[in-house]
Amino acid sequence: MHKRLFIPGPVEVREDILKKMSTPMIGHRSKDASKLQKSISGKMKKLMYTDNEILLSTSSGSGLMEGAIRSCTVKRAAVFSIGAFGDRWYKMAVCNGVQADKISSEPGQPTLPEMVDKTLATGKYDLITITHNETATGVMNPVEEIAEVMKKYPDVVYCLDAVSSLGGTKIEVDKLGVDICITSSQKCLGLPPGLSICSISQKALDAAKKVEFRGLYFDLLELYEYIKKKDYQYPSTPSLSHMFALDYQLDRIFEEGLENRFERHRKMAEYVRQWAKERFALFADERYASNTVTAVKNTRNIDVSELNKKLGEVGYVISNGYGQLKDITFRIAHMADTTLDEIKGLIESIDKIIM
Ligand SMILES: *Cc1c(COP(=O)(O)O)cnc(C)c1O
Repeated sequence: MHKRLFIPGPVEVREDILKKMSTPMIGHRSKDASKLQKSISGKMKKLMYTDNEILLSTSSGSGLMEGAIRSCTVKRAAVFSIGAFGDRWYKMAVCNGVQADKISSEPGQPTLPEMVDKTLATGKYDLITITHNETATGVMNPVEEIAEVMKKYPDVVYCLDAVSSLGGTKIEVDKLGVDICITSSQKCLGLPPGLSICSISQKALDAAKKVEFRGLYFDLLELYEYIKKKDYQYPSTPSLSHMFALDYQLDRIFEEGLENRFERHRKMAEYVRQWAKERFALFADERYASNTVTAVKNTRNIDVSELNKKLGEVGYVISNGYGQLKDITFRIAHMADTTLDEIKGLIESIDKIIM
C-alpha cells in the first residue's frame, strides 16, 4: 500500500504530475527543448516575483546552494544558520575553500535583522546566505525585516535558501533584494526530487566574473551565459522529465491562484500549530513559525517510530526530527498540494493513536 507522505520532502506527488513525468523524450538540443525551458523560466519569474533570469539545475537544491556560495563569493561569505541547512551551507563553503564565517542562532530561533546588520557593518563580507525556512526546526525567518537592513549594503550578494518554502508562501525576490533565490522540485512545488531552480541577479553574475575557480557543473555564470547563447538550453543533458512536469505544475499553481495557494498553506499551518500546542508544544518560537512545516516538540515523550508504524497501517507517514533533533521533535509537512482536509485526516489519525 502506498503511504501518503506528510514528510518535508519529498512530498506527495499528484497522479497527473507523475503522468507528465513520463512524457516521451525530446532531444535536449531541439527547438522544443528551448521552448520548454524558456516557458518554465517565464513562469518561475512570476512565482518568484522577479525580473531576474532563472537557472534550472539537474540536481537537488544543494547543488545550487553549493554553486551559489562557490561562484559568487569574492572575498568572504557570512553564513547565517538557524539549523541543519544553514550548517550545511557553511560546510559547502569550507569544502570548496571559500572563506566564510557562520553566525548561528539558538535552535528554534530566527536570524534577526540586527545580527545581519552587525555582521555586515564589519565590512568583511561580500556575500550572505540566509535560510528562509529551516525545515529542521520549523522556523521561517523574517525576510522582510532582513531586507530593510540589506538596503544599507547594496554591494553584498544576498543568497536565500527557499527550498522548503517557495511555492508555499510569498517570496517577492526583487522587493526583498535577493540576488540568488534557490528552491527544489520536491518540496512546495510538489514534484519528484531531482531538479532545482534559482533566480540570479546581475550583481551576482558580476561577482562571479571576479571569482577565478567556480567549478564547472554548478558554475552559475557558465549556466547563465550558456542559456543566453543557446536559447535556454543547458550545457549538459537536463532532466527533461522534470521540466515537462514543472511546466505543467506551474500552470496548475497559477490556476489555483498564488494568493489562494499561500492562504491554503497558512490555514494548514495554523491548524497543525493549534493541535501541536494542545497536545505537545511547538519547537519554534511561535512568532517565527513556518507556514510549510511544523516541528512538534515531543513533550509527551512518545515513540515517534512506533507512531509512524501505526500511522502506516492507515496509509500515512510523518517525519521524525532532523539530525540532533531526532528524538525531541517530530515534523509534519503541510506543503505543496496537500489540502486542509487531508491534514485534518492525518491529525485525527494521530489523535486516535496517542490519546
Ligand atoms: C530540503 C532542504 C535543502 C536541501 O535540498 P535538496 O533538494 O535535498 O538538496 C536545503 N535547505 C532546506 C531548507 C531544505 O528544506
